[in-house]
Amino acid sequence: MRILTALLACLLLILPCAAAGETVVTSFYPIYLIALNLFDGVEGIDVHNLAAPDFGCLHDYQLTVRDMKALSSADVFLINGADMEEFIEPALESLPELEQRIVDASPGVFLIEEDEEGETPYNPHIWLSVRNMQTMTANLAEGLAAMLPAHAEAIRANRDAYLERLRLLDAEITEQAIPLKGFAIVTFHEAFPYFADAYGIEIAAVMAHEPGDSLSAGELMELVKLERSLGNPPLFTEPQYSDSTAITVSQETGAPVYQLDPCVTGPANPPLDYYETVMRRNLTVLLEAFESAGQA
Ligand SMILES: [Zn+2]
Repeated sequence: MRILTALLACLLLILPCAAAGETVVTSFYPIYLIALNLFDGVEGIDVHNLAAPDFGCLHDYQLTVRDMKALSSADVFLINGADMEEFIEPALESLPELEQRIVDASPGVFLIEEDEEGETPYNPHIWLSVRNMQTMTANLAEGLAAMLPAHAEAIRANRDAYLERLRLLDAEITEQAIPLKGFAIVTFHEAFPYFADAYGIEIAAVMAHEPGDSLSAGELMELVKLERSLGNPPLFTEPQYSDSTAITVSQETGAPVYQLDPCVTGPANPPLDYYETVMRRNLTVLLEAFESAGQA
């Protein structure tokens, strides 16, 4: 009886601890989507996304007091890397112990150098190549399995399932994008070079280097001139940012306007295949634009 009581006491001590679980913080939406897939069906993990699901890219993101609190209690912090999280350096100054808990998705991904206007050496929008997305998933899974060994087996099984879906997605886009080889488009944010490079599309110009750049009348006229000099290729805006510049350029040149989604925002509780859905939709939009351009 005494042994039983002792056992019961032990259990009561252990249980609250086991139920408390672990907190995994992700920096922004694409990383959040990977984490949700890796933890599918895994109990006791709280996946918390730092940037709000409607925030978009982390360019110039300022950490809030709430973010610092979340980071200080995170068991693991998953980041995109490739200089997307420019706030990392200042965050590590106040939270030096965080460095041991960071898993970077970017080692081994194919990197594209920024043009001379870029603020970082490489373009950070790496997840828009489905092949990079596979490398990122593998990197995050390995880091998580090492830091959360109790869940390693489940994380690796989820990784394999997600990698298989991403392989199918890449094969599907590669096949359907064959007619798009050399198709010239104009975008308004430096987000799509990875997608373009993977599938042979040509980004003839990027009209605003980073979103939020506001333009003078003179700068707008320069863009109109540039668009005309390129032969008025279709313009692609993004749902996250204002399309007023694109509309002005379109009104002046007659170039059509379409929308591509860099998958940096979405529902707070997205379906696990959200990235795949967005990438397929982007391909459909590009094929539509290509067909209309051919008929013009
Ligand atoms: Zn961006």
